[in-house]
Amino acid sequence: PPFVSGTGATLIDARGRSYLDLNSGLGVTALGHSHPRWSAAIADQATRLTHVSNLLRHPLAEEVASRLTHLSGMAAVFFSNSGSEANECALKIARKAARLRDPHSRGRLVALERSFHGRTLGSLSLTARAAYREPFEPLLEVTFVPPGDLTALAEAIRDGGPSKAAALFLEPIQGEGGLYELSPQFLAGARELCDTHGTLLVADEVQSGAGRSGDFLALAPSGIQADIVTLGKPLAGGLPIGATLVSEELAGVLAPGDHGSTFGGGPLVLRGAEVFLEELEEGGLAEAVRQRGAELREGLDRIVATGLAAERRGRGLMQGLALPGRASAAQKALFERGLIASTAGGDLLRFLPPYVITPRELNQALDILTQTLEELPA
Ligand code: PLP
Repeated sequence: PPFVSGTGATLIDARGRSYLDLNSGLGVTALGHSHPRWSAAIADQATRLTHVSNLLRHPLAEEVASRLTHLSGMAAVFFSNSGSEANECALKIARKAARLRDPHSRGRLVALERSFHGRTLGSLSLTARAAYREPFEPLLEVTFVPPGDLTALAEAIRDGGPSKAAALFLEPIQGEGGLYELSPQFLAGARELCDTHGTLLVADEVQSGAGRSGDFLALAPSGIQADIVTLGKPLAGGLPIGATLVSEELAGVLAPGDHGSTFGGGPLVLRGAEVFLEELEEGGLAEAVRQRGAELREGLDRIVATGLAAERRGRGLMQGLALPGRASAAQKALFERGLIASTAGGDLLRFLPPYVITPRELNQALDILTQTLEELPA
C-alpha cells in the first residue's frame, strides 16, 4: 500500500499501518518525517520567497554557503538539485582545471571499483557497476582501480598516455557499493599521489557526508583534505539539493557562463538546508548520530556474534549487515514486520536511519531485526 504520512522515524501507509523507517528515503530525511521546526520554516518560506534564480542574490545562499565552508574547510560552494548534479559540476571543474594546466589534457578520470556517483552520463561514467553503465556506453574515459590498491592507483593516475588523470573520484565510505570504508592509509596514499601528479582529489560525500558518518565529512578522521567535496541527500532535510564545495585554489576555475542551474540554491530549498544545519550543529543532532551510531554498531555486532550475519560494515548512521544470498529476502521479511531497510552492493542489508531516531526506536528495530534473521531461511 502507498505511504501517506510520517512523523520522525515512523511512516504510515494508506491502511494506517506504521513502519519504522530505517532508510530515510535513501539517506535523505535525516530530520525525520514532518520535523516540526523544518516543516514550519518551509511553510513560512513558501509565503515569503520561493524562487529568484541565481541571477539574483538572497541571504539564505550566503548563510548556508558560509556554514558549509566553515564545516568542511572548503572555500566556495555551487548549489544544484541532486548528488549527480553536484558530481557533474565537480567533473566540469576538474576538466577545466586540467585544461588550464595542460592544453592537451583529455580530462581522463580515475574512480574506484564498487563506486556509485550517480546516473547522469558524467556521473554514470564514474560509476563502476557494469549493469548500470553498459546500456549507455560509450561514456567518459574513466580508469577503475580496486579500493585499497595504491600501486594500481599510481598507475591509473600516471599512465594516461599524453596526460595524467584530471581527477580521482572516491567515496570515503562506499555507499551503494555496500558500505566499504576506505582505509586512512589508502586515503593518505591517494592524497599524496594526487599532489605529486597534479590530479584533483574529489570526495563524493553525497551519502556519507552532512553528518551521517558521525563527522560532518566521513573524510575528517583521516585528516585528508579533498580538493572538491560533493554533498546532497540529507542536506536540505528532504528537499532536492546538491552542493559542490571547492578549495581556495579552485574557487576561480569556473567563470561566469561556464556552469549554471535554474533551480539550484533557491530560497525554499536553502531554508530547509538552514534548518538542517542548525539542528545538526546547535540542536545536538551531530552528537545524537554518534550516540545512536555506537548503539547501532553494538546491536549489529551482537547479531554477528550470534552467527546470524557474516559481518557488520559502515559507521555512524550508515551501517549494515552482510547477508550473502539473503539480503533481499531479509529486506522483504523486515518490511512485512514493519521495518524499512535497503540493500547495497548485493549482499548488504543497509540501515540509513534518520538522525532523530530515539534509543527506544533503535532498540525496537534491533529486536525486529534479530527475530527476523532468526526465522529467515538460511
Ligand atoms: N553519489 C553517491 C555517493 C550516492 O550515494 C548517490 C545516490 O545514491 C549519488 C551520488 C547520486 O545522487 P542523486 O541520486 O541525488 O543524483
